[in-house]
Amino acid sequence: MRKISDWGNYPVIEAEVGGFDSAEQLREKLERAGPVIAFGNGRSYGDASLQSNILLTRRFNKLLSFDETSGTLSCQSGVLLSEILDVFVPRGWFLPVTPGTKLITVGGAIAADVHGKNHHVDGSFGKHILSMDVMRNDGSVITSSPGENPDFFKITVGGMGLTGIILNATFRLKKIETAYIRKETVRAANLDEIMDSFETSNDWTYSVAWIDCLAKGKQLGRSIMMRGEHATKAELLNPTHKQAPLNPRKGLQLDIPINFSNFALNHWTMQAFNFAYYNKCRPGTHKSIVDYNAFFYPLDAINNWNRIYGKRGFTQYQFVIPKAAGREGMRTILKRIADSGLGSFLAVLKLFGEQESFMSFPMAGYTLALDFPVSLKAMDLFKELDVMVSDYGGRLYLAKDSRMDAEMFSKTYPNADKFRQAIAMLNDGDTKFSSLLSKRIGLTD
Ligand SMILES: Cc1cc2nc3c(=O)[nH]c(=O)nc-3n(C[C@H](O)[C@H](O)[C@H](O)COP(=O)(O)OP(=O)(O)OC[C@H]3O[C@@H](n4cnc5c(N)ncnc54)[C@H](O)[C@@H]3O)c2cc1C
Repeated sequence: MRKISDWGNYPVIEAEVGGFDSAEQLREKLERAGPVIAFGNGRSYGDASLQSNILLTRRFNKLLSFDETSGTLSCQSGVLLSEILDVFVPRGWFLPVTPGTKLITVGGAIAADVHGKNHHVDGSFGKHILSMDVMRNDGSVITSSPGENPDFFKITVGGMGLTGIILNATFRLKKIETAYIRKETVRAANLDEIMDSFETSNDWTYSVAWIDCLAKGKQLGRSIMMRGEHATKAELLNPTHKQAPLNPRKGLQLDIPINFSNFALNHWTMQAFNFAYYNKCRPGTHKSIVDYNAFFYPLDAINNWNRIYGKRGFTQYQFVIPKAAGREGMRTILKRIADSGLGSFLAVLKLFGEQESFMSFPMAGYTLALDFPVSLKAMDLFKELDVMVSDYGGRLYLAKDSRMDAEMFSKTYPNADKFRQAIAMLNDGDTKFSSLLSKRIGLTD
C-alpha cells in the first residue's frame, strides 16, 4: 500500500499500486485483481484515476509505428504527449490536440477526451483517434474505431477508464514547418470585451484567455487573450530560430521543492499576482513569435507547481455553459466567484466549438476553469455554482472534479443513464473498472 493522489493532492488515499509491461502481464493482473482503475500520469485533478487498486500504465510506453506520409502514429497508451513531441517536433509533426500540459498519457487523453486551445477548429482528442485496442474485464482485447465496434468506441472516448484498459491507439499528427507559434496577445478590460474578442478570433487555430477572477464591478472579467498559429519558416525573423526552426532551445526548468504553507497563498497574494499579471500586458494587441512550449505549456516549466497550494491540496472547478447562455451566464457566475474572493490565479476562459460526443465534456459554449485551495467555504461555494451551471444548461469536467454529487452529474450529462447501463452490461454483474469518481457520481457501485 502507498499514498497516492491525482494532481490536486485532494483526495490523498492509500492504495495497492502496480504496473504492467505487456498485455499478457496486464491480463494476468486483471484475472487476479478485484475492481481496478487505470492511472496514467495522474494529471487529472481529483479522483478519476484513484481507487484502492490502481494499475499504472506508464511502463507500457512504446511507439509502435509511424507513417511519414500521412503522419499516422500508433503507440501504447502509457506514452506521454511530451515524449511524442520530443520525437516528432524535430521531424516536423505536432499533436492534433493538446491540453495545457504535455505531461499526460495517450490513455488519459482518450479516457478524458481532452480539449485544447483549438477546440473550436479541431474538436477534442477523441475526434482524431483512428483506432484503439482496449483490454476488457475478461482479458479479451477489442479493437474499435468510428467504423469498427463504433458503440464501444463511443463510450470509451471520454469514458474515464470505465470500459477497460486502453492498450494502443492510432491517430494522425499534423504537419508543421517550425516549432514556433505566431502569437498575438490582446488585453480586454472586461467580460464583454473578451467575449467580443473570442467571437472575432474564430479564424485563429488557437485561442484562450487568462481571466482575473478576483476583479469586480466594471473590471469584472478583465482578461488577456492569447491566440496563435503555427509559424511558417518565412515568418521566423530571429536568426537563432531560423537556424534550427524545428529545434527550439530548452527553456529554464524551475522546481517547487516543498509544499507551501497555507499562509503563502491567501486572498492578498492572489490579488497581487492577478493585478501584476494583467498590468504586465499593455492595452492593445501585441505580436510575437514564441516556441511551442511557451505557448502551450507555460506551467510545465515549473515542476511540482501543485505544491504551491500546500498539503490541504486544491481542486479545479471547470464548467461549460452553452453559447446562448454565455454572456449572461458567465457574468452571473463570475460575479459570484469574484464576490466570494476565493478563486485563485490561473482562471482560464475558452470558447468551445461544436462537439459530437457521448460522455465528453465540451459543448458549443464558454468554459471557465479556476483553481481553488480546498476549504469548507470553497465547497459551499461550489454547491451554489453547481445550481447556476446546471440552470444554464451546462456541466462540469470530470477530469477536474473531486466533489460533484450523483444528482448534479445525472442532471447535466444527458447520456449519464445510458452510460451507466452500458458499463453495467460490459461488466456483466461484476464491476471490474471503477474509480472514486465513478462511485461518487453513481456510475458504478
Ligand atoms: C496543468 C494542467 C493543465 C490541464 N489542461 C487541460 C486542458 O487544457 N484540457 C483538458 O482537457 N484537460 C486538461 N488537463 C487535464 C488532463 O489533461 C486530463 O485529466 C488527462 O486525462 C490526464 O491524463 P493522465 O495521463 O495524467 O491520466 P490520469 O489523470 O492518471 O487519468 C485520467 C483518466 O484517464 C483514465 N486512464 C488513464 N489511462 C488509461 C488507460 N490506458 N486506459 C483507460 N483509462 C485510462 C483514468 O482511469 C482516469 O479516469 C490539465 C491538467 C493539468 C495538470
